[in-house]
Amino acid sequence: MSILICIKIHTRTSIFDIFGVVLYRINHRISINIYILILYIILYIILMTRKLLIVFDIDETLIQYIPNKYVDLWESKKSLFPTDSYIEETNSEGKKTVIIFRPKLRQMMQLFKDDPFFVPALWTYSERDYSNAIANVIIDHFQLPQDIFLFRYGAEDIDEGTGIPKDLEQIYQNFPQFNKFNTILVDDRYGNINNESNINNGLCIQPFAPFGPEKVRENLPPKEFDKQLKDNIFESVIKIAQQIKKDIKGCDDEDYDAAFSTESVFSEKRVKRMKLDVFYQTFAVKFTQVVSIGTPFLTNKFILIENYDKYPKKMGGRKTQKNKKNKNKRTNKLQ
Ligand SMILES: [Mg+2]
Repeated sequence: MSILICIKIHTRTSIFDIFGVVLYRINHRISINIYILILYIILYIILMTRKLLIVFDIDETLIQYIPNKYVDLWESKKSLFPTDSYIEETNSEGKKTVIIFRPKLRQMMQLFKDDPFFVPALWTYSERDYSNAIANVIIDHFQLPQDIFLFRYGAEDIDEGTGIPKDLEQIYQNFPQFNKFNTILVDDRYGNINNESNINNGLCIQPFAPFGPEKVRENLPPKEFDKQLKDNIFESVIKIAQQIKKDIKGCDDEDYDAAFSTESVFSEKRVKRMKLDVFYQTFAVKFTQVVSIGTPFLTNKFILIENYDKYPKKMGGRKTQKNKKNKNKRTNKLQ
């Protein structure tokens, strides 16, 4: 009898066990499927949440950096700058350096802090350490979230193989939620914009350079210096960013999907649609020296440039060995 009960209990236990295992497996499978589904939904939301990525160059775009050897020049003009528009630092060697913030940088960063539609990032031709150092200085000075910049790229992130400086295509690969439709590069050097990846996504702005746009800092003529103090380029950048937001938000899902990787923010069609054509300026990019006598017949594609030799020759953002050395020094000074 007891053997029979044992068998029965044992049999019942086994059935429950089997039932439990089956249930567990079903639940387990359902759980895995639910997790996968949730992951897909999160990925979909990330990819479909509309945002605008604004990649900023650093030097002469967001700030002007004054190395120690030009501090005397800075001291002679310091009183003309608002007290919250710069920071003075002493590096590990006990030498003073200065970072001057471009006017309206605070307002622009505040907008990015308040409106998650705008995603700022940094890409400099200096080392990544410099990019990180400046990001941290901006975050501390304007009391911004630590993660406000999506990335802080430097020269190490430039693919030497393609020969394209600050290639936005690299960003699209690293951050698939961004592409031609919702990314811009703001830079003071046309050389960083003038390539097949960036040409229709680049916003070329006037340098912020109260001590001159060249590596050698200098005293600008009073009129030019005054213009730098009254710089209001970021007001226009904010205006343009708001227009782009309106355009991106105004697209239906079908148009958005179709245009995502094909329609650049500053394609001619879109610039007109966003009523940003007031910002169009025409530049002569390639100069050709021609043996000529007098003034030949000129057209809009054949323009005579007088005093060509007086223009600065280094117009692009490409890194030279000399530049790299200087930037290395700069990075060390900031640490
Ligand atoms: Mg620059």
